Amino acid sequence: MAMRNIVKQGDDVLLKKSKVVENINDRIIELLNDMAETLYNNNGVGLAAPQVGVLKRVIVVDIGEGLIELINPEIIEVQGEIEDEEGCLSIPGIWGTVKRPQYVKVKGLNRNGEEVIYEGEGFLARAFCHEIDHLDGILFIDKAENVRPVE
Ligand code: ZN
Repeated sequence: MAMRNIVKQGDDVLLKKSKVVENINDRIIELLNDMAETLYNNNGVGLAAPQVGVLKRVIVVDIGEGLIELINPEIIEVQGEIEDEEGCLSIPGIWGTVKRPQYVKVKGLNRNGEEVIYEGEGFLARAFCHEIDHLDGILFIDKAENVRPVE
């Protein structure tokens, strides 16, 4: 495993749409391993592949309840709406208030290529939405109100 550099706002890679993973090969497994290491070393709660410069539909999330790895994640159900604070490892030192669904159901593949479904409420739902947005080149500040420096 290896830490990867986190791409910061201003780099075009963060604005591009990521490609569907057609084949879970060794490079994808290595990407997942490296993304988890990079996430934990930066005390993050989620990371999307474009944030390490790879335009593939891969995310990792851990809100303190264990690591979730998802390949080709898709939101298949949403409920409710809630406003809360959000930040991003690619936009350090900035917070904003973003409306997100209160609940989401997400479908994707695990590293073995098996279909998995996760349900998330509150902060976990927010993390899934934030990371999946990255795969479509969308940053939280595109949706945020009250964008401001962290005090
Ligand atoms: Zn982010």
